[in-house]
Amino acid sequence: MRIVIMGPPGVGKGTEAATLTKTFNIPHISTGDIFRELYKDRTHVGKIAKEYISRGELVPDDITNEIVRHRLSHPDVKKGFLFDGYPRNIEQAKALDEFLEKKGCKLDAVINMTAPEKQIIERISGRRVCEKCGAVYHVISKKPKIDGICDLDGGKLIQRNDDLPKTVHRRLKIYNNQTAPVIGYYEEKGAIIYIDGTKPIADVQAQVMKALGELK
Ligand code: ADP
Ligand code: AMP
Repeated sequence: MRIVIMGPPGVGKGTEAATLTKTFNIPHISTGDIFRELYKDRTHVGKIAKEYISRGELVPDDITNEIVRHRLSHPDVKKGFLFDGYPRNIEQAKALDEFLEKKGCKLDAVINMTAPEKQIIERISGRRVCEKCGAVYHVISKKPKIDGICDLDGGKLIQRNDDLPKTVHRRLKIYNNQTAPVIGYYEEKGAIIYIDGTKPIADVQAQVMKALGELK
């Protein structure tokens, strides 16, 4: 299965992606996670990306596309993949088409998750992530077993800097201006699945599984 999951920041893409990639046994390719790892490892690219991430802006396409091109050269993508947070503008969507064309394959599904802005802001402001493994929690809708501690590895749960209100508004604006048009790009190609992201996590998962099942 080769999937792209789209939707505004905080709608629940990463949460769904975590389950889908386990179910289909495919790698979860989150460009946001890759940039955070590169920064944690103190790489040059990671430091550049961090500057853009802190401002809530998109990391330039040349850097982002090169990271994706490189990731697609790993053998594990032969099984398929799920992109989360990429492509984020039309140029990236075209770059992905080119990469896939060169590999002689195409996307099986583009999932578009939606929710009203008020709900998205509540989700982002309550999001907490494990400092060690990046697992995602929420202070109300997805609490860890022990407050402030990751269920998976005991890491400390923190709030992402770019989840603070000032940056969130910038990210949403950029989503509306640059990323939302990508939905139209995929609509023209035909393969898009619309998911109502307003429902609880388990319901959203059920919707996605049903829609993917109907594709076959
Ligand atoms: P994205 O990857 O789209 O930025 P996340 O998957 O990180 O979004 O989810 C954002 C926040 O909302 C997280 O704190 C997550 O636990 C929570 N969340 C995700 N999906 C739902 C849902 N369906 N209902 C309630 N909370 C959710
Ligand atoms: P995310 O983890 O998807 O919320 O992404 C966090 C931040 O990483 C974004 O706000 C951008 O600054 C950067 N980023 C992630 N993916 C991309 C992408 N495809 N293109 C440009 N910037 C990205």
